[in-house]
Amino acid sequence: MDIPGLDAALGTIWCVGRNYADHAKELGHEPPSEPLIFVKPACAAMLSGGTLRLPADSRRVDHEAELVVARARDGSLRMAVGVDFTARDLQAAAKKRGDPWTDAKGRPGFAALGNFVPLRLPTRVRLSVNGAARQDASTADMIFAVERLLAHLDSRFGLRPGDVVYTGTPAGVAPVAAGDRVSALLGEGESRLSILVA
Ligand code: ZN
Repeated sequence: MDIPGLDAALGTIWCVGRNYADHAKELGHEPPSEPLIFVKPACAAMLSGGTLRLPADSRRVDHEAELVVARARDGSLRMAVGVDFTARDLQAAAKKRGDPWTDAKGRPGFAALGNFVPLRLPTRVRLSVNGAARQDASTADMIFAVERLLAHLDSRFGLRPGDVVYTGTPAGVAPVAAGDRVSALLGEGESRLSILVA
């Protein structure tokens, strides 16, 4: 998959959980002492303009607006807005069983991506549904800053060009429904995405 603003094919989709204290709290968790990392399969990637088809076996899919960071082929860092869609009911069941989150986080379209631009922080992450604001936060409020997350991933796995890192969502996650138009942006709109839910 070729991604606007990134000179490398899409690699691994890395994700960080509970990286804003107010979101960890809204889901009933203590802030983590180490970055919480999980991955999504390639089939989850969806570019702006795509349609998210809600899975038939979930009754609650939430939006999670996030800053996404990637390393380009020339070594420079890029950023985009992304939405980590999450089947919250499937995730809750997996947590209860002690199972991985792949089923709840990895369905087709669950990793929505806007266009990449040069990384400039801090920035603001905003998401609206049908024009109504749902999430709005500064990346300055992240528990683990971008440099720390990249160093963590690099030391354990070796980040490669084209790998993308969803850096966690702030508070305000909520369910989407068929017919919704989900829009998200970074800063004043340097990176944008728009997804239709069906
Ligand atoms: Zn997330």
